Amino acid sequence: MDTVAQLAPLKAAAPSPDQPSLIGLSRAALGAALAETGVPAGQVRMRTSQIWHWLYFRGATDFSAMRNVSKALRQALSERFTLARPEIVTEQVSQDGTRKWLLRFPPRGAGRPVEVETVYIPEEGRGTLCVSSQVGCTLTCTFCHTGTQRMVRNLTAEEIVQQILIARERLGDFPDAAIPQGAVVPSEGRLVSNVVMMGMGEPLYNFDNVRDALLIAADGDGIALSRRRITLSTSGVVPEIVRMGEATGTMLAISLHAVRDELRDELVPINRKYPIAELMEACRSYPGLSNARRITFEYVMLKDVNDSLAEAKELVKLLKGIPAKINLIPFNPWPGAPYECSDWERIEAFAEVVNRAGYASPIRTPRGRDILAACGQLKSASERMRKSEREAASV
Ligand code: SAH
Ligand code: SF4
Repeated sequence: MDTVAQLAPLKAAAPSPDQPSLIGLSRAALGAALAETGVPAGQVRMRTSQIWHWLYFRGATDFSAMRNVSKALRQALSERFTLARPEIVTEQVSQDGTRKWLLRFPPRGAGRPVEVETVYIPEEGRGTLCVSSQVGCTLTCTFCHTGTQRMVRNLTAEEIVQQILIARERLGDFPDAAIPQGAVVPSEGRLVSNVVMMGMGEPLYNFDNVRDALLIAADGDGIALSRRRITLSTSGVVPEIVRMGEATGTMLAISLHAVRDELRDELVPINRKYPIAELMEACRSYPGLSNARRITFEYVMLKDVNDSLAEAKELVKLLKGIPAKINLIPFNPWPGAPYECSDWERIEAFAEVVNRAGYASPIRTPRGRDILAACGQLKSASERMRKSEREAASV
């Protein structure tokens, strides 16, 4: 099947860099924007619900689509705000059906446009969207391609939510126009049924924007993804782990990758600040933890670095008492990477130890390697802003 041919041609996006977007605002902030536009106080709630529905349930990109909103209000809103999508610079489809978009966001004020990557991974019975939280990353995990790109900036809540909206739009995943307002569309059966914050960047270093975006993704009147189908992955920013769980009720994944501090200090340098014991303590305190809501521990398989069977046994011991899933990730190479992926027999032997301890199907099949879309392969060409630009952009 030629997957590329199924896609509609890319539209020439016309993002308006000077107008703020209504996308990514909390309900309260959206209400305030409407009040500022002249909506009478007594109508703000009702109008907020209507517009929320158009933005997130229907995926409207134009105020003119909002049939139940008066013409005068649509006009006033379009003079002040934009609903434009970011520009899709490239859209690639892997042989295995994985899709990767390179998106360019306009500067919105000062600064330069930035580019980020978003990846869609279709699987039997579900489809997972891997969303970025930052352009680049401040951390420098030695096996990760994003870690070699300097941090440019945090993404805004708008830019995080836009990644979900654009994927749904390109995949044709918005509900049919015939479905009435107020209908519940379950996460199952949708093309984007799961969201993982596992793209570029460390989501817990962009706490407020990621929280706001995840709350929008989980809002039952809009994108309406079940909180169990949203997972945030962190390299281990210990003080923010429980706080994020309390704020969003979403699922947690931990990039563990080593069972001893000495090695983890090297592979995941944030470990020097928050060592393994503290990380495990935060995991034990994660809200809502149960056998039905387990933490995923990610473990990248690096040949002769962290892949001994003794380490597999230590891993099982370390996680004792925590409702956990283990995800062994075959290392995905990138140009100039200083590691090799463990041999397949070794990965299987490691998985066998983990399996015997009661963890089912722990190996993550690499997806989208041919288009550099697999875990840890994302990197965009956006450059770090000059200090003066960053300061101007943050006011
Ligand atoms: N910054 C967050 C989320 C993004 S990384 C974090 O580190 O958790 C998503 C996952 O891909 C993490 O588990 C990360 O460790 C893993 N990863 C990074 N580089 C990889 C590579 N080259 N091969 C396989 N997995 C990799
Ligand atoms: Fe950043 Fe995660 Fe990559 Fe580490 S693995 S450099 S935290 S994106």
